[in-house]
Amino acid sequence: MVYTTLQTTKSEEIFAAAQKLMPGGVSSPVRAFKSVGGQPIVFDRVQGAYVWDVDGNQYIDYVGTWGPAICGHANPEVIGALREALEKGTSFGAPCYLENVLAEMVIDAVPCIEMVRFVNSGTEACMGVLRLMRAFTGREKIIKFQGCYHGHADSFLVQAGSGVATLGLPDSPGVPKAATSATLTAPYNDLEAVKELFKNNPEEIAGVILEPVVGNSGFILPDAGFLEGLRELTQDHGALLVFDEVMTGFRIAYGGAQERFGVTPDLTTLGKIIGGGLPVGAYGGRADIMSMVAPAGPMYQAGTLSGNPLAMTAGIKTLELLQKSGVYEQLHEKTQRLSEGLLNAAQEAGHTVCGGSLSAMFGMFFCEGPVHNYDDAKLSDATKFGNFHRGMLERGIYLAPSQFEAGFTSLAHTDEDIERTLAAAREVLATL
Ligand SMILES: *Cc1c(COP(=O)(O)O)cnc(C)c1O
Repeated sequence: MVYTTLQTTKSEEIFAAAQKLMPGGVSSPVRAFKSVGGQPIVFDRVQGAYVWDVDGNQYIDYVGTWGPAICGHANPEVIGALREALEKGTSFGAPCYLENVLAEMVIDAVPCIEMVRFVNSGTEACMGVLRLMRAFTGREKIIKFQGCYHGHADSFLVQAGSGVATLGLPDSPGVPKAATSATLTAPYNDLEAVKELFKNNPEEIAGVILEPVVGNSGFILPDAGFLEGLRELTQDHGALLVFDEVMTGFRIAYGGAQERFGVTPDLTTLGKIIGGGLPVGAYGGRADIMSMVAPAGPMYQAGTLSGNPLAMTAGIKTLELLQKSGVYEQLHEKTQRLSEGLLNAAQEAGHTVCGGSLSAMFGMFFCEGPVHNYDDAKLSDATKFGNFHRGMLERGIYLAPSQFEAGFTSLAHTDEDIERTLAAAREVLATL
């Protein structure tokens, strides 16, 4: 038996079969629980703040399908709108009025976006924006930060931190050196390193792309002045500033991290929440830059299923629900209570931890903080996190199966869910 208090026979059977059918038994790597050393739970259905596995166990979920489920899983209003849209067909491959509606909502919400292009995933959005940065500036090099994730396109698979990455060598076999040789990296929150890169590569850098609040090396906030500093540096060097808000868009605030921090980039990528649980991504920004995208301009990018009516419908309904007054205050208050409760519980049990939350995103590292970047995050005790993760799972709390992922709350999480989570955490932390 994999877990001591959980009955997971069916999950184990299905996952064993899956491993013969699909690499690692999954369609996306982190789902396989490799970094926490457990066995993945196979889901049967999701509703509100909860997920049920194929063995009938129920969990309070803090992954929210990695971000989209901010209104709760299978929100009845989203599902209702989808049912209606479904009757009219699933894909048009032609202009559809719903694209106008979602585009207008995105443009109204996100400060930098004057025009937007819909795609099918966050990865695709980041690939599009990368080509656009280069097309607009006529320059090839880009700067990304260690530990930031921008999807799985070749040019972004440089994590740096290690010597290999600092040389601009790819992180994955199959990525040609040429695809990453124009990707420069710096530690997150390190303006001096970015200045140095601009100095050493004069008039060669197309732009800087980052997660304005990091969620892909655990939860890391930008230091005061970091985003502002990048805005100034990019402007001074004729380079573009791109916020990858695939995770933070409509989560940190309705207008994303750029609204929350008052720093307006030139371009932004979106995904996750704007698809309301269906596959959507988007990139957008200044109209003069976006006008380069085909067919308005010469930069080619296309998609058979892009802007399809089902995805647009789920996005529109999700954003409508997020427009209700008090939504973000409610998310922030709930998440803060959870985050502070977790940190207190860990400290009371004698563990060294750090972390925090902002709006509906939170994180905790098992190390002395503060964590400013990926190297700091790597100091977290991964074994302890793995045991914490397993203990929580056994008590019906589903956390992201990696130390390097942020936690997500939703409008569906109740005070009672938070209390149950903290009670479970106190039990588990006492055993670590
Ligand atoms: C999830 C994520 C992506 C990739 O989006 P997919 O839809 O998984 O391709 C890109 N950037 C950030 C910041 C993300 O969190």
